[in-house]
This record gives sequence, C-alpha cells and structure tokens, in this order.
Amino acid sequence: MNKIIDGKQYAQELNTNLKNSIEQLEGKRKPKLVIVQVGDNLASNKYIKNKLNACSKVGIIGELKKFDQDINKEELKKEISALTNDSNIDGIIVQLPLPNSINEKEIIDLIPANKDADGFNPQTIGNVMLNNSNIYPATPFGIVKLLDWKEINLVGANVVIVGRSNIVGKPLANMLINRSATVTVCNTKTRNLKDICKNADILISAAGSANLITKEFVNKEMTIIDVGANFVEGKYCGDVDFENVKDEVKYITPVPGGVGPMTIACLLQNTFTLYKEKENI
Ligand code: NAP
Repeated sequence: MNKIIDGKQYAQELNTNLKNSIEQLEGKRKPKLVIVQVGDNLASNKYIKNKLNACSKVGIIGELKKFDQDINKEELKKEISALTNDSNIDGIIVQLPLPNSINEKEIIDLIPANKDADGFNPQTIGNVMLNNSNIYPATPFGIVKLLDWKEINLVGANVVIVGRSNIVGKPLANMLINRSATVTVCNTKTRNLKDICKNADILISAAGSANLITKEFVNKEMTIIDVGANFVEGKYCGDVDFENVKDEVKYITPVPGGVGPMTIACLLQNTFTLYKEKENI
C-alpha cells in the first residue's frame, strides 16, 4: 500500500477538471483573480509566482497589483476599494505578510465576501463555522479534500490539530466538526502535546516548527497531514520528522508535494465558485 498522500497529483487532477470547465465557458469572459502585494518579500514573490502560473494553466486571468513598501494605508485602502468595485474581478487576495506598518486584519477585512478567494473574510469564516458556505479557507479546504480523496474516515475520528491560527487551525477544526470528527486543537501552551498526538487517528500539524512531530508522537494506524512550511539550512521541510516517521504511520503527506499544491488548487476552485455565483452559472 502506498502510504504517501500525493497532494501534487490530486491538485493536478483538480486543476485539469477546472481547466476543462473553464474551456466550456464559450462566449463568456474568463474568471479573474487579483493578487495584492505590498513590498517585496522574497518568499511572497515565490508564492505569488506559483499562484499566477497555476491561474494561467487553468485559464483564470491572474493579475498582480504590487505596491511600494511605503504606500500609506489610506492609499492602499483606496486601491483595494477600486478592485472590489471592478465587476470583471471575481477574486481578490492579499498576499501576507504585509509590512509591519500596516494592520493585516484591517486590510483583509476590506475584501468583500463575494470576492474572498482566500476565504479569510469574517463573514466567510462565520459561514464555514455554521456549515453554510461554498467558499473555504484554501489550506483547510485542500486538507479536507485530500482526506476525502484517500477515503479516510472522518465520522467519529479522533483528530488532533497542532496550531490554532485563523487561516488554518480554527477554520479546519470547524470544518472537521461539521463532518462529525472529534477535534482537539493544540497550541504552544498545550500540556502533554506528545501524549495528545499519539492517540490521534488523524494528526494535522500546522505549527511552523521543523521536526516538531517525531516518531514518539505517532501510532501505526495514524494519518498525518503536514501543513508546515519551514526552511532549515536552505531546505524546505514540514513540521514532521518525515524520514523517521513515515514507516511508523498509515498515511502521510510529504513536504513539498502535499498540502502546498492543494492550497493553490483550492484557491483556484474558490475563484471559479465566486465567478459562477457572479455570472449565475
Ligand atoms: P501561525 O499563525 O504562526 O500559527 C502557528 C500555530 O501553531 C499557533 O497557534 C501556535 O500556537 C502553534 N504552535 C507553534 N509551535 C507549536 C508547538 N511547538 N506546540 C504546539 N503548538 C505550536 O501559522 P499558520 O499561518 O497557521 O501556519 C502554520 C504553518 O503552516 C507555517 O509553517 C506556514 O508556513 C504553513 N502553511 C503552509 C501552507 C501551505 O499551503 N503549505 C498554508 C498555510 C500555512 P500559539 O497560538 O500558542 O502561538
């Protein structure tokens, strides 16, 4: 049995299906996603390039609006307001992090729910919690899709999530509760993290801490989803000590090639959903 959950493969399948759907939109305008970037963060440049490439592969118009590091907040707000009023734009995302001088929440909240391709708007998050949304934060969306793809049972499953951020841990916990999983969400103050993790059917690590999850944290029937995106001595890795853990669990996602490509695929899915809502398709 292949225990590696190949997120890259499944993301490609989703992207191919999306491309086919967009090709069938004969005579209609194409969906459009705008990425707002402030400053010139190197990691952000790379993530944005990946997102724009993915857009062009499926036939979504992807556009980068890049603003100077020193742009003042009011000017940035005005620029975003112009984007939100442009009827040819279906999705707008703000690439994080923003410079320290700008309050991220204040800027993210400017993206209205009907253009919220990242799924970060409070209204979107509220609807996710209430199980009443067709837009989901892209990373949790990708994780749930991966688990469904592998037919990993969620009903009654004991799921442990390490990390309680607004973009991963919290929305993911709500999505899994809505699927009848029993969910424990951990943070840096959690006591006995290792013992809590060890009993999980599904362990999802979104801590951003390389080698946090060692073989002492796992069991032979466990599925591990590694959300972490860390650089150690120039090498990209997740939160899991992959080499020593992979033979001790049932399923595991690699880094790279696990959650990352699914996050981008789900960003594109969200953009297309917003487009279809706008165009009444
Ligand atoms: P974040 O906002 O920094 O949150 C990290 C969370 O993990 C916090 O709740 C923190 O607890 C908890 N945590 C950190 N170290 C811990 C430890 N040793 N024990 C227990 N809990 C711990 O990060 P994020 O934005 O959610 O991202 C998490 C990781 O996923 C990062 O590496 C990020 O780069 C990656 N990521 C990857 C993708 C992808 O597409 N592959 C997408 C999004 C994020 P406290 O709340 O107590 O501080």
